[in-house]
Amino acid sequence: MTIAAKDKIRGVVYAYSPLERWDLVRELGTNWIRLNVPFPWADRMNGTVSPRWEKVKATIRSAHEAGLKVMPSTPTIFGYPEEICGKIGTPEFFSNVGRAASFMAGNLGECAPSLWQCMNELDGATFSGDVPLEICTEACRRTAFGIREVNPRAVCGTNFSYWWEGSRRAGEMLFRGDHPFGYLGDDGYFGSWSGGTVEDWPPIIDDMWNTFGLPILISEWGYSSGGGTLTPEELHRIPDNPEGLEPVCYHKSWGYELPGGHCEEVQADYMRRGLEIFAAHPHVMGNFMFCFSDAVTCWHCHHENCPAECYWGLCDTECRPKKAYYAARDAIRRLYL
Ligand SMILES: [Zn+2]
Repeated sequence: MTIAAKDKIRGVVYAYSPLERWDLVRELGTNWIRLNVPFPWADRMNGTVSPRWEKVKATIRSAHEAGLKVMPSTPTIFGYPEEICGKIGTPEFFSNVGRAASFMAGNLGECAPSLWQCMNELDGATFSGDVPLEICTEACRRTAFGIREVNPRAVCGTNFSYWWEGSRRAGEMLFRGDHPFGYLGDDGYFGSWSGGTVEDWPPIIDDMWNTFGLPILISEWGYSSGGGTLTPEELHRIPDNPEGLEPVCYHKSWGYELPGGHCEEVQADYMRRGLEIFAAHPHVMGNFMFCFSDAVTCWHCHHENCPAECYWGLCDTECRPKKAYYAARDAIRRLYL
């Protein structure tokens, strides 16, 4: 199976900005955005639709009407309130996850007709805490079955936090038997959250393809344009930490960098090179750059100017394009259109 560059998804995770700059997304040459969707009800199953759901739905409709395609990203295991859905891991809980997913797909209808991300990085503690992998993968399967029950055309998948032993085990649970998935996603932040460079992607994609035989979606990837760098040893040395911050938030520094450090120029070059790698790889069905705009505050620590989350954008916090925006735009025009 070879996927031609012109048929690949060119996407961006539309995170952090309250503005709806669909014009800038289109100018970038992307035809897809990813948006998170919440649990839909405020009080009980099939009860009152929450204001949060209505707000997200309005955003998705607005993007759809502007000619963009939207991949919804469904809630993590903790996004299904136990007081409504039942205790995590019980038959009642799994059944309600499926029913909620069916509602999401039905309610969004033609605004989100084809591609879905079921949950997020379920193999990692950041989004799954200490909930066992068996439970997270079953919730993910129920999500996809629920979506496909009302929309059999939907292509469902999920994204691993990175390709490791835990995600391999998760895949064995997810893709057993007559499973509901059409792609496998993976996230990677080489040079920021982990060592390595953007050149590390091809062998990972090959290994995932050889293991599960599903088209690979690069669900999140990018390089932070801000923050200092310590050695990994220095980064993990935390003398006192009353807020319980992660090392990057505590030191406001990364443990890894590419030559040139965390700056706009290196970020721009990284995005250009990644788009080249994904255009050329036969088993990549597309990619979602992370992300559209910088964040004012970090969602891990709630501080401003924290490199953990604040400098991933192709644009700044006011949606002014950074160097990476132009680098990505030019690479997309050259390679995908
Ligand atoms: Zn932080």
